[in-house]
Amino acid sequence: MTTDDALRATIHAAHTATKTRVNALFAALRPAVTAIGQWAQTPEGQAAIAQMRRDRDREPCACICSITHPSTTPGHDGPATRTLNRTTETLGRVPIPMCQACAHAALAAQEAQ
Ligand SMILES: [Zn+2]
Ligand SMILES: [Zn+2]
Repeated sequence: MTTDDALRATIHAAHTATKTRVNALFAALRPAVTAIGQWAQTPEGQAAIAQMRRDRDREPCACICSITHPSTTPGHDGPATRTLNRTTETLGRVPIPMCQACAHAALAAQEAQ
């Protein structure tokens, strides 16, 4: 057996062992994948997937609380539900998506000025 033959045999053995392990892994995952696929077809699964899509598409609150409403920090209460304009020296008027709590606090802070 030459060195090349030995190398080829080693690579072949490694390749076969890897293929066997990958096949075993996929075989082990198949029941779980099948179960998820079946669940996704049920009304409960459809509702959960629709909710996940809505959550994914929601815009997060972009308020910088310490600047926009420094005296009141209610904390964010969810995704952005409205957009308030903020005027800055460098950027001019900038629309900022805000959650309900921040929009409330920001408007109150504006009125207080
Ligand atoms: Zn805020
Ligand atoms: Zn917020």
